[in-house]
Amino acid sequence: MNVVQLLVRAARTHGDRPAVYHGASRLLDYRGLAARAAAIAGGLRGHGLKPGDRVALFMPNCPQYLEAMYGAWWAGLAVVPINAKLHPREALFILEHAEAGALFTAPELATGLLPLLGEAPAIRRVFETGTAGYRNLLDAAPVPPAPRRPEDLAWLFYTSGTTGRPKGVMQTNRMLLAMTACYFSDVDPVDADDAAVYAAPMSHGAGLYSLPHMAAAARHVVPESGGFDPAELAALAAGVDRLSMFAAPTMVKRLVAHLEATDADPSGFKTIVYGGGPMYVEDIRRGLAVMGDRFVQIYGQGESPMTITALSRRQLADRGHPRWLERLASVGYAQSQVEIRVADERGEPLPDGEIGEVQVRGDVVMAGYWRDPEATARALRGGWLWTGDVGVLDAEGFLTLKDRSKDVIISGGSNIYPREIEEVLLAHPGVAEVAVVGAPDPEWGEEVVAFVVPRGGPPPDPAALDGLCLDRIARFKRPKRYRFVDALPKNHYGKVLKTELKAALAGGRNEPAPPK
Ligand code: ATP
Repeated sequence: MNVVQLLVRAARTHGDRPAVYHGASRLLDYRGLAARAAAIAGGLRGHGLKPGDRVALFMPNCPQYLEAMYGAWWAGLAVVPINAKLHPREALFILEHAEAGALFTAPELATGLLPLLGEAPAIRRVFETGTAGYRNLLDAAPVPPAPRRPEDLAWLFYTSGTTGRPKGVMQTNRMLLAMTACYFSDVDPVDADDAAVYAAPMSHGAGLYSLPHMAAAARHVVPESGGFDPAELAALAAGVDRLSMFAAPTMVKRLVAHLEATDADPSGFKTIVYGGGPMYVEDIRRGLAVMGDRFVQIYGQGESPMTITALSRRQLADRGHPRWLERLASVGYAQSQVEIRVADERGEPLPDGEIGEVQVRGDVVMAGYWRDPEATARALRGGWLWTGDVGVLDAEGFLTLKDRSKDVIISGGSNIYPREIEEVLLAHPGVAEVAVVGAPDPEWGEEVVAFVVPRGGPPPDPAALDGLCLDRIARFKRPKRYRFVDALPKNHYGKVLKTELKAALAGGRNEPAPPK
């Protein structure tokens, strides 16, 4: 069994079902999508690409994304998704590192990248949507799907690089099928009437969520904007109905604010799966109040995509549960295809209630990093994936993340978890965003510094922020310094780059701009 079999099966048994939409317009049924994938596969084989070769997708969200992705799989190739927001030089790094033999791209991205391609000699062919080359591919003679084994590479996903150079995570057919099974059992049982809407980048987790929707022969909807626009999504929900989407916490916040401000009916949304970063309790409570019981939280990372734990729709909605708020602050419990544990730095499992590194094992864990044995040996040790996340399990198996191990602040010998302090400061009405980091300190080792983005108006009084901390957390965890800034440095996935904040504090370089 391999990933493309999901499309083969859907086309055979549900050929007339609608498969791909652009906005609210229906483009292809399942028979049509499979025919295009088979032709693209024939074209790619005709261009000399062999099973196991890599083909890169440097494209924004668009309907062609699905046909290129499944076409490459149909030909037995591994897909290398590249976030369309990356700089052409960053994309080039990935193309070269993966030794991609072909590239799918779009006109708006081709202009920056094509002049650099002389530096990536492995690339034999470029297929730009809307050009004759792409149309020729679609006109190629179809081929049967190439046989692939469960352990073969399917998706070579480069990490976003918040902890250094991006690394190529090798995701196999087995992994992606295990992720699909987890989606049905732990996230959301998909129905043929459901519609996956791709509002988050398809080059990231959102693209993989096409798999459970392919398995159910459900609908795939690419917004016309190609991205996240709350007003467009609200209109699509009303027109297409039963929309499900993956959303990063910031997207959830914006969608909820839009629906609240416009008093829109949320009933066209079926499920909002959120994760990829911390969701603050206040934000999810507001989401539940505005959109009702439509949320599921997942915790994962490229190395175990979206599949470590889940906090189910029912647990999120169970307001009467005595530990409801505690659960909202957790990331739920282990998904059905994984085992998790919390261990000390030697890899010894810790009892419930003790804080340590989260470790995972099971079919959903990566095969390793592409051509990087040292990084692989660091991440996969003793049969477990070391996630780099610090967390604690309770007696019922619920996991609460404290922070990423590299972000933990050690001051005067005590561990301080920035996320806890950020949660407290965000409760201040004058705080829009906050990031807490450690700065070198000769006496304490590190001291706690908070970078605060004020919510319009003048920055809040540091004494008021300090008072809030004194009310809620131990004295030694309080920030010693506050820096008020216009914006926090973020990567293309919207994650705060704490390495830059720390570098700024250590060397006085790249200091984020103070508010005007
Ligand atoms: P890199 O590995 O290059 O540093 P990254 O940190 O952006 O990149 P991703 O795989 O994109 O890596 O993100 C995974 C991380 O995001 C997890 O290890 C965890 O720290 C955080 N995360 C994911 N889901 C959740 C969640 N539901 N709640 C809190 N944090 C989460």
